[in-house]
Amino acid sequence: MLVIVAHNDDHIIGAGATLAKYAKEGKKIRTIIFSYGELSHPHIKPEVIKERRYKESIESDKILGGSGVAYLGLREGKFLEQYKKRGIKEKLAYLIKKEKPSKIFTLGPSDVHPDHNAVWKAIDELIREKRIACDVYAFEVWTAVKVKKRDVPKLVVDVSDIYHIKGKALKAHKSQAEHLVPFLPLLQFKMWLHALIDGWANSCTYAEVFYKLK
Ligand SMILES: [Zn+2]
Repeated sequence: MLVIVAHNDDHIIGAGATLAKYAKEGKKIRTIIFSYGELSHPHIKPEVIKERRYKESIESDKILGGSGVAYLGLREGKFLEQYKKRGIKEKLAYLIKKEKPSKIFTLGPSDVHPDHNAVWKAIDELIREKRIACDVYAFEVWTAVKVKKRDVPKLVVDVSDIYHIKGKALKAHKSQAEHLVPFLPLLQFKMWLHALIDGWANSCTYAEVFYKLK
């Protein structure tokens, strides 16, 4: 499995329990992250926050049972601009080819966060250029409304017995928790409510739902 995201907590929010479940089943999960997220704390030196967020992502990857994290080092807010200029596109295509994943999990086209959307655009371009051979599934982190995609096949993962790991992995991102203090309970509630609603619709306690985009 290959996970491709903008920031080091995106996949925890969007697919954390599913990744923990796959890892428990013995599947290898590698994660590629576009940015260190150095702008999340403008009052702290970028090198300091980079180091902190890097360590936190290693810790949360361990909690999920992942097999490692790689960063592309793009600057937040400048993804599309830097992506082609700095040869990152070729690096990403190379990593996908090298890892030979059976599935890719990434950010979806209706995510409203500009950096999240830029990740989707990058993946979409590689799909259109036929440089991605495997199935691609999307999850959403920041969508204003739940977009109905009736024509797109879905992947529903019953995560009832492993949902608690998701919260644990999210807690490892302490610097984000500080940053998001006013929103954190809301984010955790939203995450829980989504899993509960998706579970209810699919006859289990908690579920995570993905949209098949390739
Ligand atoms: Zn993000």
